[in-house]
Amino acid sequence: MLYKSVNGEAHCYLCSRYCKIPSGKLGFCRVRENLNGKLYTLVYDKVVSANPDPIQKKPLFHFAPGSMAFSIATPGCNFRCDFCCNWVISQSRSIIGESIPPEQLVQMAIDSGCQGMSYTYTEPTIFFELAYDTAKIAQQRGLYNMFVTNGYMTVEAVETIAPYLNAVTVDFKGSGNPDFYRKHCQVYDVNPIFKTLEACKEKKIFIEITNLIIPEIGDFKDDFKKLCRWIVEKLGEETPLHVLAFHPNYKITDISATPVKLIDESIKIAENEGLKHVYAGNIPGHRNENTYCPRCGNMVIERYSIFLRENKLKNGLCPFCGYKLNVIEWS
Ligand code: SF4
Ligand code: SF4
Repeated sequence: MLYKSVNGEAHCYLCSRYCKIPSGKLGFCRVRENLNGKLYTLVYDKVVSANPDPIQKKPLFHFAPGSMAFSIATPGCNFRCDFCCNWVISQSRSIIGESIPPEQLVQMAIDSGCQGMSYTYTEPTIFFELAYDTAKIAQQRGLYNMFVTNGYMTVEAVETIAPYLNAVTVDFKGSGNPDFYRKHCQVYDVNPIFKTLEACKEKKIFIEITNLIIPEIGDFKDDFKKLCRWIVEKLGEETPLHVLAFHPNYKITDISATPVKLIDESIKIAENEGLKHVYAGNIPGHRNENTYCPRCGNMVIERYSIFLRENKLKNGLCPFCGYKLNVIEWS
């Protein structure tokens, strides 16, 4: 899907790398191959993960709280993050996995008691065809669909999946600092991520955002402020933002985990910039795992780690003051 054949070259516009792939070669993601001018996905039948997860794990805190999302992935990614916690599958050079047709994936989700599908762990954009076909069937069967994405889809990709996509978690790393993306993700332009977010907003896809903060190399306070301001201005002050603590992984093993103090400082910055729902990620037991009513300040959803303990909202309304929170329930 989403390519043009130009004199035998495949011009892919599924993601913002816009690879121009000669015949016999692969795109940057290593999972799309040009065979005689036709671009083929190599991962449609290569499912490497298929299991139920609490939606809080994505993280999605304001969409279908407490629900279970059947989470699927194939190998491959269009980024090369040197801190990726799923690098074994995202950076795999061999196309491993099992053929599980979309109908069966949806049936597995229903049989395991899930209310939705999550396309996650690696980058859903690069297994777009499988996600698209599965999402269509899932929607017909009453399930929601959500992407956990690095945000590098093209606007065309967003528009294509939009009729079936209910929610996205868009992951920033290092607060969107361009040098950080260049050096640690091999991404040379961060602007497409902002375009993806605007396209999702336009298509009324529910948005949550994460930002991974790696001490020493990925803590950019000015970029973080800029990012928060952009979110407030373009997406709204009630857009949930998750500030994620890093844990040593893949090629970054010589830097310690993000101290709680750094996460707390970032939360403060985000709140000062006007964001109403700023969460601490990967720090179980932190007070900012819970949702507080922006008007009266009472706790309305209590969580621990990826688990929901109590949701006090009544049809999205605060039970203490009646304020309507930016929370979508799913039944
Ligand atoms: S999806 Fe893959 S082939 Fe297509 S533009 Fe992105 S990296 Fe290149
Ligand atoms: S974008 Fe996500 S899945 Fe891809 S390499 Fe980076 S952290 Fe891993």
